[in-house]
Amino acid sequence: MEEKQYVTEWANENLGLTLKITKMLHEEQTPYQKIQIADTLEYGRLLILDGVFQTSVKDEWTYHEMISHVPLMLHPNPERVLIIGGGDGGVAREVCRHDCVKQVDLCDIDGRVIELSKEYFPTIASALLDPPEKLHVHVGDGIAFAKSVKDFYDVIIIDCSDPIGPGEGLFTREFYKSAHEALREDGLIVQQTESPIVQQKTVHDVYKAMGDVFPIVRMYYSHVPIYPACMHSFMLASKVHDPLRTGVRRPVPQPMKYYNRTIQKSCFVLPNFIKELLYKG
Ligand code: SAM
Repeated sequence: MEEKQYVTEWANENLGLTLKITKMLHEEQTPYQKIQIADTLEYGRLLILDGVFQTSVKDEWTYHEMISHVPLMLHPNPERVLIIGGGDGGVAREVCRHDCVKQVDLCDIDGRVIELSKEYFPTIASALLDPPEKLHVHVGDGIAFAKSVKDFYDVIIIDCSDPIGPGEGLFTREFYKSAHEALREDGLIVQQTESPIVQQKTVHDVYKAMGDVFPIVRMYYSHVPIYPACMHSFMLASKVHDPLRTGVRRPVPQPMKYYNRTIQKSCFVLPNFIKELLYKG
């Protein structure tokens, strides 16, 4: 395999993040996307899909803890959780830490992401390697999966790729309607929605589309060093529970590297430029 010294993710034609690599470990084109796995000097082992950095061993917790525990701790008793995407296993690992969760369905469209994550990312994919009884892994389109279920899940987590390629349909009003129907009467959904600095259109469009379907929509953020401009947004849409009014109602699984009880509320406190972005027409 050809040796490369650097990998770059281009957020747009003006901005890229470049990491020095020690070795390109794997490259493969699947029917859905190009998968690359490289060892980098700064962030350790890195998963890249279609040229976009997905997760790294050194910073994965900044993303996986925040996309998982914020919605789970907002819900008073999450028993059934659906993860769409998430083939690297990081979200499944975090969700399975909650004793109240009795069933976790993970549906990723690309079985190769799941298999390669088990091989190359054992710490992230630990729940896939040694699955607890409550975890069920499905290989298929998350859009069709969500459509086939009614009134069942308490929390849906969309840990998808960006809105190009196989992830595109997960960013539509139609999909949010299916998700709304798949949720129980006090259910909630969270989705990764890219950077509020360099991918503002995604943030704005998802806020509006979710707002057409759910009565409560709130954006929160984390700092994810391998994503463009570091600040990364998540959109949470809810039928009943409002994160601005509700605090943490049960013990937080320990240990955590990023998430804590205070962050549960403070991550929803938005700077003015994001409020302007969300509330404009
Ligand atoms: N944390 C990452 C990020 O934001 O860059 C995303 C995690 S990555 C594991 C995203 C996963 O979504 C990929 O494994 C991809 O196969 C999956 N995916 C994309 N479109 C999908 C769809 N329509 N249904 C299910 N999984 C999908």
